[in-house]
Amino acid sequence: MAESNESVCPYCGVGCGIRYDPDRGNAVGWKGPVNQKGELCPKGAAAWDVVEHEDRLTQPLVRVNGRLVEATWEEAFDVIEREFDQILAESGADSVFFFTSSGCTNEENYLLQKTARKLGTNNIDNCARLCHSSTVAAMGNRFGAGAMTNSLEDLMEADVFLVTGANPAEQHPVIFRSYVLPALKSGTKLIHVDPRENATTKGADIHLPVKPGFDIPLLNAMAAVIVEEGLVDEAFVAERTTGFDELREYLSDLDVDAEAARAGVEPDALREAARLYGEADRAAIFTGMGMSQHHCGTDNVHTLINLPLLTGNVGKAGTGVNPLRGQNNVQGAGDVGCLPNVLPGYRDVTDADERADVAEVWGFEPPATPGLTEVEGTHRFGDEIRAAYVFGENPAVTEPNANQVKSKFEELEFCVVHDVFLTETAEYADVVLPGSVWAEKSGTVTNTDRQVIRMRKNADPPGNARPDLDILREFAERVAGLDTPETPEAIFDELCAVAPIYAGMSYDGIGTGSQRWPFPEGATDGKAILHTDSFENGSKTAPLRVVEHVDPADPVEGDELVLTTGRVLQHFNSGALTRRSGVLMRMRGEDVLQIHPDDAADRDIEDGDRVRIENDRGTVTVAAEVTPAVRRGTVFTTFHYADPLVNKLTGDALDPTAKIPEYKHSAVRVTVHAEA
Ligand code: SF4
Repeated sequence: MAESNESVCPYCGVGCGIRYDPDRGNAVGWKGPVNQKGELCPKGAAAWDVVEHEDRLTQPLVRVNGRLVEATWEEAFDVIEREFDQILAESGADSVFFFTSSGCTNEENYLLQKTARKLGTNNIDNCARLCHSSTVAAMGNRFGAGAMTNSLEDLMEADVFLVTGANPAEQHPVIFRSYVLPALKSGTKLIHVDPRENATTKGADIHLPVKPGFDIPLLNAMAAVIVEEGLVDEAFVAERTTGFDELREYLSDLDVDAEAARAGVEPDALREAARLYGEADRAAIFTGMGMSQHHCGTDNVHTLINLPLLTGNVGKAGTGVNPLRGQNNVQGAGDVGCLPNVLPGYRDVTDADERADVAEVWGFEPPATPGLTEVEGTHRFGDEIRAAYVFGENPAVTEPNANQVKSKFEELEFCVVHDVFLTETAEYADVVLPGSVWAEKSGTVTNTDRQVIRMRKNADPPGNARPDLDILREFAERVAGLDTPETPEAIFDELCAVAPIYAGMSYDGIGTGSQRWPFPEGATDGKAILHTDSFENGSKTAPLRVVEHVDPADPVEGDELVLTTGRVLQHFNSGALTRRSGVLMRMRGEDVLQIHPDDAADRDIEDGDRVRIENDRGTVTVAAEVTPAVRRGTVFTTFHYADPLVNKLTGDALDPTAKIPEYKHSAVRVTVHAEA
């Protein structure tokens, strides 16, 4: 019998089953635990394009006299060992920063965070910092778990979906097509909160085109209507929450019409949305980066969490707060400890008992001081951070204020980039290590609804590229003297011994299905619905919270517009993979700036004109798409392209709790490009 090759799509957090079909010479879906009919979206269907791409790195590269030249693995690792040894000896482990990869496996990420901690630093982060760190912080604080409260399957029982700051029709297409649309066809109502009409809005009963940065007034006003109109689930509030009196008092002083106007939406539509949500037997929230990527992102999600707590929409099917995670293993990268403040299983690095527990398995105690987050780390390149290991991420494109990021990378003394293509970040590398794509590795990933799914090898890496786990094992051994298990299965077993939320899972148990965390003793599939009788932190109650609006960090002045960024169906994150797919580039080869007709007319901009978008951080040019889909005063584009590099314009004001940057609100001037 042929060895099975069922793997997982390398793109979004849905976690669709995908494998290579030799008869078709292409990737196809298999009936996975999420895409149960084997369906794929255009990105998944094009995932084979990156496997055999001519741009693949096939040989290590080492910088000599300013140029990257081919080297052997031995030569590349000799340079890495020498430079790391010297920097560690001179400046200590906290002079090094590790970027791990939410697009790589649990086992690879687990190994790299363990290596960092063996060296003596918690300076380790992943791109979850840039997408949902604020959601995780708020949900962890209130519910005791920073993950979807429910499973995709049970969410189909909802009477109402409230989708805030997310566009699942384009960004999580298989969830939308296979879970949301069937529910809508059965009568579930959809409220969509988004500054822009997009593919998700087409299925909505109510669209609230919120002004970017004004989610707190909108959600507070919805909560005020729920209280004012007697839609509070009093039994639930009495039994499962604290702080109701204080919140009620705050909300009773709010002027709903004024808050709606501040949020830029019609008061009647807001009241209707609040009633729809508050009157439903089962109302479920999907939340995305429109909520999380603000300098008040944690407070945005805190405000959102008040709605299910007021209405008893927690702990049962078809309810809860459900973050739609971006990348195929962004949930897992956090679960396995690729965060500067927690060890595997979200164990607090500052807690001596947690460190001692982990030390029993590891044979050494991890450091106690929380490390730097991703953007904080980059800001300190050339200062206390002297070296970085960048594994499968492309911060030169994805971090905000890209011109500053570029100059910080230039200041870095020593940089290793471990990736499959010569990414924009690899241009700053001293050593480039050619790794493996989804089809060339085995291991596990954890999808958006906490399902751990296995990836299986379909092909060998090209040329002298190597499996990522082999490369990380050699790095661990040569730089940190860490002896590591050889196989992904053995590393997964160690992860399950260290991370309580994974305890009891096994490779065999997962098979071609999944196991979901938490995984209580005796479980076979794991717990689908969280917080049923008590919250995951063991408390019977969760606090309701008064949250005040704070203005965006980058206020609009004069004739400036608000730039908000997002994603489209055909591309993914920095585009390092999808921009190399001929099919996807034919579907969407370049970026456009969506601008409202009135804003366009004010600036003599016509559809298709090249426009210049600028602020004090940078300038980019792009074609205009004049459309009423985007609200007046706001313009929209994506961050998928290295040219135009839109993150030149985004600001790096950070949320004080989660340290997530405010990607969703940047003041810009838009004019017709003079050379057009
Ligand atoms: Fe891949 Fe997400 Fe598309 Fe599924 S929905 S095929 S996981 S990109």
